Amino acid sequence: MTSDLAARMRARMERLYPLCRSITGEGVRRTLDVVAETVLLERHAVPSGTQAHDWTVNDEWTVRDAWIADATGRRVVDFRAHNLHLVSYSVPVRTTMTLAELRPHLHTLPEHPDWIPYRTTYYHRTWGFCLAQRRLDAMAEAGDEASYEVVVDTTLEPGELTWGELVIPGESTDEVLVSAHVCHPSLANDNLSGITVATELAATLAARPHRRWTYRFLFAPGTIGSITWLSQNPDRVPSVRHGLVLTGLGGPGGLVYKRTRRGDRPVDRAAAHVVTRREGEVRDYSPYGYDERQYNALGFDLAVGRLSRTPHGEYPEYHTSADDLAFVTDDQLVEAYDATLAIIDVLERDRAYRNLSPYGEPQLGKRGLYPTTGGRAASDAVMAMLWTLACSDGSTSLLDIAERAGLDFARLDAAASDLVAGGLLAPE
Ligand code: ZN
Repeated sequence: MTSDLAARMRARMERLYPLCRSITGEGVRRTLDVVAETVLLERHAVPSGTQAHDWTVNDEWTVRDAWIADATGRRVVDFRAHNLHLVSYSVPVRTTMTLAELRPHLHTLPEHPDWIPYRTTYYHRTWGFCLAQRRLDAMAEAGDEASYEVVVDTTLEPGELTWGELVIPGESTDEVLVSAHVCHPSLANDNLSGITVATELAATLAARPHRRWTYRFLFAPGTIGSITWLSQNPDRVPSVRHGLVLTGLGGPGGLVYKRTRRGDRPVDRAAAHVVTRREGEVRDYSPYGYDERQYNALGFDLAVGRLSRTPHGEYPEYHTSADDLAFVTDDQLVEAYDATLAIIDVLERDRAYRNLSPYGEPQLGKRGLYPTTGGRAASDAVMAMLWTLACSDGSTSLLDIAERAGLDFARLDAAASDLVAGGLLAPE
């Protein structure tokens, strides 16, 4: 039931939201633990220093606490209050500074004075705090020479890069890759929406008795995680035949599908069909974004598109504390889940059929396929049968027919099943 689905996705996001994820560390492992409660996730890791194509796996980052306290000892910025307060990958610090000295390490959003920005410093070793502009303004009332205790209780040491993987076998060993990043801290749309929808999809596909393709779900830190997976699995990469990156599936905008670099792959047609029929938008490829840019890189050339709503950077809440659990609604998640499953169903079920009774329109009524009361306008279900019979020449696929007829692929697929059962159609 839809309401159960929504409740499961919501509960998972609520548990994941407080975790301090980054590209390495305990937050990623605890996130994978939560996903593994629903699906049989395998955990993989490589040590810091591992070479992954042009990248090197970073030291592991661990954060215990971080704060800025005023002269009375009161924490004016506190990691324990919100994990966005600490710049991700901040190096350890324990010192006293004036506000003037501290300012270069402080990040705010003056245009949204109550929001905390999200900042990272993965590959440049420094430290910093993010805070609401209003908080900084309040600190400034004590003057630039006011003194603050600054503590960043973190470690950056050799450890591991961790990711989760789930393989659901199908009839073909060719794979559909579904990828979600797991490296952002308390940000709901930008990573938790993708994680929670991907988890439900994996559970749904694993429960099906039959699958045409093998499914590989990847829950990995952005960029370094996907590049590391690609570099660790050279023998599996050629099996990836279709793929989707899932992220940013909440927020008020409609669905947005971003094409593969080549733009004419089966997943592009499948997604365009599903998304445009839901009044969503299809955009061309660009080499900026999420992990689709690694999968589509020339050396791999994988047919991986991306499904989101309003893309990163185009909504004000992006990478701020306003991307919270309230920003993502249940309806948005359920629609995104339904749309993703509909895209997968096109990949699973699109094929060509042959009309076995091509000499005029066959008599549907005597086979129980036609409504018994004549005279009304044909329903979509009848039109789907007529279109399927009209066009199934053995090479025109159901998706071709759906697009020409302006009907949902699912409608054509159901009609084809009925016609096969009625002896009027056969898979080519
Ligand atoms: Zn992001």
